[in-house]
Amino acid sequence: MKKKGETKRQRILIYYALAIVLPCLILGFLAFRGIKNDQALVEREQRSNLLEAGQQIIRETDAYLSSIESRSAVIFDSVDIPRNKIFYDSLLSKFITQNHVVAGVFYISGAGELFLLNNGMVYVPDDFLTVSDVSGSQTSQSILEKGWKIEFRENDFRKALAFYKNVLPDVTNDQSRGEILNTIARVQKKLKLDDEAIKTYDLLSNNYSVVLIQNKIPLGAVALLEKSLLYLGQKDTISALKTIHFLLSQLQRPFWELDYSHYANFLSKINEITSLCNNSRDEETRRFLERINTMKDSLTMSERHTEYVLAFLGNSEIISGDKKSVLENKNLRNKTLINGKSYLFSLVSDKDQGQWGLIMDPDYILNNIVHQSILGNANKSNFSWEVTDVNGEQLLKSEYIPENTSPVNTVFPSNLPSWSLTLYPENSGLFDSLFRPDHSLFLYIFIAIVIILACGLFFTLQTVNNELHLSKMKSYFISTVSHEFKSPLTSIRQMAEMLVRDRVPSAERQRKYYTSILKQSERLSHLIDNILDFSKMEEGHKLFHFEKADIIPVVRDIVESFQQHTADQGFHINLSIPEPLPDVVFDREAMEQVMHNLLDNACKYSGDSRKIEVDLLSKGNKVIISVRDYGIGIRKEDKDKIFSRFYRAGEELTQTIKGSGIGLTIVKQIVEAHHGEITVESSPGKGSKFTVTIPLCGI
Ligand code: ADP
Repeated sequence: MKKKGETKRQRILIYYALAIVLPCLILGFLAFRGIKNDQALVEREQRSNLLEAGQQIIRETDAYLSSIESRSAVIFDSVDIPRNKIFYDSLLSKFITQNHVVAGVFYISGAGELFLLNNGMVYVPDDFLTVSDVSGSQTSQSILEKGWKIEFRENDFRKALAFYKNVLPDVTNDQSRGEILNTIARVQKKLKLDDEAIKTYDLLSNNYSVVLIQNKIPLGAVALLEKSLLYLGQKDTISALKTIHFLLSQLQRPFWELDYSHYANFLSKINEITSLCNNSRDEETRRFLERINTMKDSLTMSERHTEYVLAFLGNSEIISGDKKSVLENKNLRNKTLINGKSYLFSLVSDKDQGQWGLIMDPDYILNNIVHQSILGNANKSNFSWEVTDVNGEQLLKSEYIPENTSPVNTVFPSNLPSWSLTLYPENSGLFDSLFRPDHSLFLYIFIAIVIILACGLFFTLQTVNNELHLSKMKSYFISTVSHEFKSPLTSIRQMAEMLVRDRVPSAERQRKYYTSILKQSERLSHLIDNILDFSKMEEGHKLFHFEKADIIPVVRDIVESFQQHTADQGFHINLSIPEPLPDVVFDREAMEQVMHNLLDNACKYSGDSRKIEVDLLSKGNKVIISVRDYGIGIRKEDKDKIFSRFYRAGEELTQTIKGSGIGLTIVKQIVEAHHGEITVESSPGKGSKFTVTIPLCGI
């Protein structure tokens, strides 16, 4: 039986595999191929998009620089031709301040002479310094020599101070007055006359600031530095920092023309002084330090610009090399590599046969213009990026660079810095293609296939299991029913044979045999009734004949019949009807069957107990019939199942007690046909109580 069921199950599963799984696999394969083809198309499309994005970024960068060039051309037209090698022009300075991409401006005269706009150049190359070497005037020289004798040989500082102060009114020349005042301040310092020294340095920084002393050092810068040191000596940090702040602002303007070594020297002194104040907890000092740091940052920025300009000028052949454009009076953008860095400059022809030039800041072009343009385009096309210089060094890159994608490389054209832009497409793996919003059809197909397969498998297995279970139950039913038929029939036949052959001599024994034959045949007829009713109910053909009548005689007859039949087995069936009942609408035969099945079960499952109680009473508009035994009882988990067809609770029971598993199914269906209900209370080993409730006139 089990083997047969298994093969049936296997056969159904094979059909399922052929009818559902195979087509699904073919469909899945086709969908997969579709995705693959689609992926190739997507990749091609992506590459062309990236190529276009790369060109667009270059176009935008070029357009930005062109706009700067054309705006500058208008300004150059209204600017006078420079006269000093380092010149200043407010219009041009304003233009540079507004356009950060311009690091510097220069002018090449028709004769090829180079002029440089001093804008934010914190230091200048030696050959561009406009001032000649200062060796001090004759007057101051002789005065200072006399003073030095007193100051250094005689070491008489007071006398030296008096000497310098004495001669000062006679000196009229600014250079000499500056030098002498500087010496006075020095002697005052030696005499610890700090307040007076501060006053002298004040005078110097206010009136003799641009006077240069040895090595072209501006007196103003020296005076401010000394003044702040004196303040520091007096523990007046705030005044010291104020002085430093002022000095920095002068360097930034720039107020003096300094060469690199002087500039660097001043800066390191400033750093020394500020670092001395760094530990201060005073609120105002900290505020000043912050302001000074901001100033230093902007000075660093100016330094960078200065570096560009100087590095560029160091390669002046680049500038003066292109005379042709001057002659042809056309604008030109050029570039050069200095120390591995790609510098860009634009030449704008001037009406006076000269040429104006803009030095572009490559870092600004990269970090602002190119970067902004990349970000703008990346928003549209979704890509990762990388910008490298000619040596392949990475200058700029996106946060994430995908692996295993084939990037698109675009080289910047010759009129832009020598960079190379690499754009990486977003990952286009199989999985990504599947989940791409515009390709969700394939995803839906996959999901649908998986759902169909899962549901198909579930329902197939469920149906197979149900069918197998039912067929198992039916076979079991047939075998038990046949057995139930066989044993009474055999005993009827044996007893009938003995009676026919006169082998039962005593009349008493004969009556016993007849009674037994009657009992067995009654039992058989009930069994057949049950089977016939069950089959009718299964097919929905069972007809009921309802009538309004007294139900007591029906119940009493069945109980009495059971009392007689089971008396020899020792059963005590007690019927209790406390009061007369109203008439009930019911089908007599059906109700007899209900009582018969319930009493039959009560006897069968009584175990060693021999007590059965039947109660009949009315409650409200209902009649309640209960059959109670004190037998083996029913397990909790079986209580609901015993009303299902062919169900027999407890394996061991089914072996020893005869039964078909349809008795309670019939009872339930009859009760429900009367619009009533059947319930069971039971506990294993203590017995069961089946209660049928029928409405008085439920039909
Ligand atoms: P069966 O022919 O097996 O008695 P039924 O449909 O009448 O079939 O009963 C279904 C199952 O319910 C039985 O096999 C038995 O396990 C359980 N059952 C029914 N009545 C009782 C009872 N009074 N006491 C204990 N078990 C019962």
